[in-house]
Amino acid sequence: MGIPLNQALSVGAYVIGQHLRGRKRYPLVLMLEPLFRCNLACAGCGKIDYPDKILNQRISVADALHSMDECGAPVVVLAGGEPLLHKELPEIVEGALKKGKFVTVCTNALLLEKKIHLYKPHKNFNWSIHLDGDKEMHDRSVCQKGVYDRAVEAIKVAKAKGFRVNINTTLFSDAKAEQVAKFLDEMKKLDIGGVTISPGYAYERAPDQQHFLNRTKTKQLFRDIFKLGKGGRAWPFFQSALFLDFLAGNQTYQCTPWGNPTRTVFGWQKPCYLLGEGYTKTFKELMESTDWDKYGTGNYEKCADCMVHSGFEASAVMDAVKKPWKIAAVALRGVKTDGPMAPEIPLDKQRPAEFVFSRHVENKLAEISEAEARAKKPVAAE
Ligand code: SF4
Repeated sequence: MGIPLNQALSVGAYVIGQHLRGRKRYPLVLMLEPLFRCNLACAGCGKIDYPDKILNQRISVADALHSMDECGAPVVVLAGGEPLLHKELPEIVEGALKKGKFVTVCTNALLLEKKIHLYKPHKNFNWSIHLDGDKEMHDRSVCQKGVYDRAVEAIKVAKAKGFRVNINTTLFSDAKAEQVAKFLDEMKKLDIGGVTISPGYAYERAPDQQHFLNRTKTKQLFRDIFKLGKGGRAWPFFQSALFLDFLAGNQTYQCTPWGNPTRTVFGWQKPCYLLGEGYTKTFKELMESTDWDKYGTGNYEKCADCMVHSGFEASAVMDAVKKPWKIAAVALRGVKTDGPMAPEIPLDKQRPAEFVFSRHVENKLAEISEAEARAKKPVAAE
């Protein structure tokens, strides 16, 4: 189990509290992307393909902390882009911890050794280092040699300084079960806190569209991996056991996109971390104006192959709270890796994909130009 007990209990109590209050939709994890700029350009990334003027935008400390208050999720994940490029990230992390949040910073670790003195270990804080497999897999995934070695070195440095360190791993269609299992064994030897693992999402703007997994291949791949590690129990996953069971094709879940609401420099992203189909200025507006039923597997073409943790982890957590015996069974016997799979949601009635990327980029560029013009305008003499 890679989730610290205090976090599991606190999030469980939060979910029960939301149910008792009769809330149908509520957030679990705030995904806060305080910038899009990155110091890598990975082939499977759909987050950094923006003009420079947008890559230069930053969410301020005040806005970041206000977003946490607006949303109220107990967990805050700081991602991007590369969040360590944001000069005020230490203040954002400190502010979030003061609010009692469980905070994760997702980083490619290239700047970690240089910046680690700006952070202090805390029981509710962890680094999540991006590692898409062993040296061969990861350096291929990030399109740069040497990044795996630097990330592993950064894990050792952070651990030596007393930080809790997790890894986050995205798998693509070229992943081989044996290679992934060996990689997870190696990570365990480094005594990492936990692993977040997920299939990649086929971002429409990702430069490489050839290597994303479809649902059938995803389920078989995860069955094959878990088979090599006692049904997944060999490794400390920082995820719900029922989400792992879902990845292996043993649960039929619809996604819970409001479980991981996403705030970027554009605003609150509709409907989820993976799709940017419009933005709102406030969290309340996101929750109230999004037509949630238009999204999810079987409802929308862009959702057909999605099994990503940001969409389905919250579904698994909510299922576990409602039916705790299900999670107890998986925790005891491990993820089932053979036999028939759970029924799939039919795709025959899904609506076709809409392509809206350029519209919100144009709107943001117009907003930046207006702000620049206002800043240059001389103040009229009285
Ligand atoms: S299935 Fe859900 S989480 Fe995945 S892209 Fe669609 S709306 Fe987002």
